[in-house]
Amino acid sequence: MITRLSQLFVRTLREDPADAEVPSHRWLVRAGYIRRAAPGIYSWLPLGLRVLQQVEQIVREEMDAIGAQEVRFPALLPREPYEATNRWTEYGATLFRLSDRKGADYLLGPTHEEMFTLLVKDLYSSYKDLPLSLYQIQTKYRDEARPRAGLLRGREFVMKDSYSFDVDDAGLEASYQAHRQAYIRIFDRLGLEYVIVKAMSGAMGGSASEEFLAVSPTGEDTFVRSPAGYAANVEAVQISAPPAQDASGIGPARTVDTPNTGTIVELVDIANAQFPRPDRAWTAADTLKNVVFTLVQPDGRSELLVVGLPGDREVDPKRLEAALAPAEATPVTEEDFAANPGLVRGYIGPAALDGGPARSYLGVEGPLKVRYLTDPRVVQGTAWITGANVVDTHAVDVVCGRDFTSDGVLDVAEVRDGDPAPDGSGPLSLARGIEMGHIFQLGRKYADALGLKVLDENGKLVTVTMGSYGVGVSRAVAAVAEATCDDRGLAWPRALAPFDVQVLATGKGEEILDAATKLAEELDARGVRVLLDDRKASPGVKFTDAEIMGMPTSVVVGRGLAEGLVEVRDRASGERTGVPLANAVDYLVAVAGR
Ligand code: ATP
Ligand code: MG
Repeated sequence: MITRLSQLFVRTLREDPADAEVPSHRWLVRAGYIRRAAPGIYSWLPLGLRVLQQVEQIVREEMDAIGAQEVRFPALLPREPYEATNRWTEYGATLFRLSDRKGADYLLGPTHEEMFTLLVKDLYSSYKDLPLSLYQIQTKYRDEARPRAGLLRGREFVMKDSYSFDVDDAGLEASYQAHRQAYIRIFDRLGLEYVIVKAMSGAMGGSASEEFLAVSPTGEDTFVRSPAGYAANVEAVQISAPPAQDASGIGPARTVDTPNTGTIVELVDIANAQFPRPDRAWTAADTLKNVVFTLVQPDGRSELLVVGLPGDREVDPKRLEAALAPAEATPVTEEDFAANPGLVRGYIGPAALDGGPARSYLGVEGPLKVRYLTDPRVVQGTAWITGANVVDTHAVDVVCGRDFTSDGVLDVAEVRDGDPAPDGSGPLSLARGIEMGHIFQLGRKYADALGLKVLDENGKLVTVTMGSYGVGVSRAVAAVAEATCDDRGLAWPRALAPFDVQVLATGKGEEILDAATKLAEELDARGVRVLLDDRKASPGVKFTDAEIMGMPTSVVVGRGLAEGLVEVRDRASGERTGVPLANAVDYLVAVAGR
């Protein structure tokens, strides 16, 4: 059946929506694919729904191809399973919570590990039942702190989530690799330029995990690559710590007057002027800067956290967030400093924090109760210029392991272009991407928490090991739009376009509309998906709308008809070709690959 634009439920807009931050959002709304219902929540109109369903179909085919079976869970879920895994608490404000008329707690599912684990536990009990992979394509709910860019970060969105169940680690590895291959095929078919990067597993728990990122300047994720193939989300970069150093030649730590050195630059200048190094100049990398945060646990408990890192680097907020999740670090306030006079703003040094072995150079009485975590570069034997916990005073030759210790390592300093790759494979370069998919080896965390065990070959109960795998289906619609649109509108790749060909009847005569309709019907009979612009509108309006709506091919039936010609336009390249009407069907069938 051909679809007539005069009948289709769509209105293109001449103006950008006020809240559109990125091109894909602007064009999906202007082309009449989606409409905003509430912040981060969208309705799908006929054109948009066709694209969404095609993405779903690609995902479904590739999941089926690895033997995963489709199921569907409710979005409205009881609290108890999420209580058992502590995610009712850990998800914090991101979870949509509600209660029923009896006061029982419910949530709108942000992801479904618990439900799948319990379903398999309900029905399966033997190693003979495994391996098993189940998936669903379903609506997820997350009360994102910053819903953004239309479908790219919604509060309601469509995800394909799958879960694998195996008796042993080798089985999990095989299931993980099968999913990885399926994802490669999915993102190839979507036509996205993407990279596979090492990822953090965040609130999911578990170990090995990789993300598929669509390379895009509008992406919220930053990743690094080395020429020799290392690739990681910056969140997951673990810098290689230098070896411990011999500090026996370094004199005792001493304090120095450093008036008005609120910044690292001022401090380095004073250091070079007043106590220069014999071998080379001091640099910011010789200073140990201590940044104070309030660490808030999901249950609301909070404590101070000081992060010590070389003064030439900032704390990267995303690396910090990922490293501490599900806890959150928030900046400290004036009141926090007021309540902790031991923390001397701008002059904080480790000696005041750790109660460590040798606070002798300060004579500090008793340590503050502050958690102190340091950058991996702060290794045993390294000497630093750092705060002396007194206004306008710093300490020099403060040696890690000798003059202070920390409570542990926290690798959250910014990663920079040109930094060495942790695996020694060369300098890193940074780029941005949109997270399209995420694959995790969850291991036994959920099976343990919910008691999913099966009998193994020897009749012994063993805990099942699981994987969890997600694709952002609605996000993919936006990501492909983002990658393909231009300043005139959407420009779909064939695999996702709502229609193969848009037939434009331009001009007044009956014959023109008749010829266009006949062409559309013949194309339809040959399996080409056709949208016929039969509206009583000017050619200019039709051309503009065809460009906004973005079908890969349009064919103009108009002025040329007198000479027996139609004009075929390729949306992506802008190329225009005159084709005899008599050959147009064969020509377009070939172009559409039908
Ligand atoms: P992000 O880091 O972007 O918040 P996530 O790591 O929390 O995503 P997962 O839990 O791994 O997301 O979810 C699997 C997939 O679902 C993601 O790879 C992404 O494609 C998609 N997704 C996650 N959150 C959203 C959202 N708010 N809107 C649209 N798609 C999303
Ligand atoms: Mg993820």
